[in-house]
Amino acid sequence: MDDRIDLAGMTLEETQSFFKGLGQQNYRAAQILRWIHQGLSVSFEPMTNLSKDLRKELTTSARIGRLSTLQTVESEDGVKKFLFGLNDGAKIESVYIPSEDHDTLCVSTQVGCAMDCKICRTGQMGLIRNLTTGEIVGQLLEARRQIPGSVITNVVLMGMGEPLANFDNTVRAIRILSNPNGPQISWRRITVSTSGLAPKIFELGQSVRVKLAVSLNAVTDEIRSMIMPVNRKYPLNELISAMKRFPLPKRDRITIEYVLIRGLNDSDSDAKMLVKILNPIRAKVNLIPFNDELSTEFRSPTPKRVAAFQDILMSKSLMAIIRKSRGRDILAACGQLASENRRDF
Ligand code: SAH
Ligand code: SF4
Repeated sequence: MDDRIDLAGMTLEETQSFFKGLGQQNYRAAQILRWIHQGLSVSFEPMTNLSKDLRKELTTSARIGRLSTLQTVESEDGVKKFLFGLNDGAKIESVYIPSEDHDTLCVSTQVGCAMDCKICRTGQMGLIRNLTTGEIVGQLLEARRQIPGSVITNVVLMGMGEPLANFDNTVRAIRILSNPNGPQISWRRITVSTSGLAPKIFELGQSVRVKLAVSLNAVTDEIRSMIMPVNRKYPLNELISAMKRFPLPKRDRITIEYVLIRGLNDSDSDAKMLVKILNPIRAKVNLIPFNDELSTEFRSPTPKRVAAFQDILMSKSLMAIIRKSRGRDILAACGQLASENRRDF
């Protein structure tokens, strides 16, 4: 077991106190962050603005954690899915989504997920473990190494796992990602998506500046509890009040993800109900047609239904976009991520 400290998973402040412990000055921390997150360095050797002695000392007390790229698959639409291996043999997936003006990386926060949503393949894995801060940030570092020339400006914490169930590492990862000496992802371009851990939503907003997305997926407690068991603990009214309390900068909106499932939550009256329950918050809606490749229980809605649902929201001035599911052919779309980890390895 390598017990050297992983500098790729440390915030600027943590790195400063680490250097203080080595009798070094504060500015060394920013230098190291730049080498790791901007220079994508994998060892201390080339860090020539640090003295030889310091580099040697770092090699014994610290490391730059890396993920191993086990597999890369590319979709016909340009989306790339990575299978990354972690030090203990666990595996996670991340998805690179290029677009005209910005590229996005969708990162995982846990190996598997404990939330057990019935629509989601990750949920079927159960939870294996939380990712460390270094493993969350490391997905961006590795993707940047693997796709030279990519300009990943956006990071969404929407891969495997429930970010707010791995709260501390999620918050620290966001602090690193948005640090000017780090990967320089502006907080406006980092989105945390949660299945609805209500008490943690406010805590997130208090801890760090970041965009919030909530996977709502239903407008009644009955349907929501059926597809998302977390709703039994934090029902819709609690979830909506938690969103209301989230410190939202002026002009910003909370993104509501709504997976449309045929015959279950895609009717006109569901759309009207959605407008009603979102009334107390500033929200915009992403409509995601259910990806049904792996489901025996649920079906995708018809495109006509999706359009009609959107029309109702828009006619009531609720901004709604239909999210094209990209990377479906390589199982990289929403709810399709998983890795063949066993719970007992
Ligand atoms: N755990 C967090 C982050 C993962 S985001 C969360 O649930 O918000 C995964 C998104 O994919 C969620 O919005 C979820 O509702 C959606 N999703 C899950 N299964 C899906 C499927 N089969 N088709 C389309 N979207 C799905
Ligand atoms: Fe976990 Fe999100 Fe999948 Fe639910 S939808 S099982 S919270 S990853």
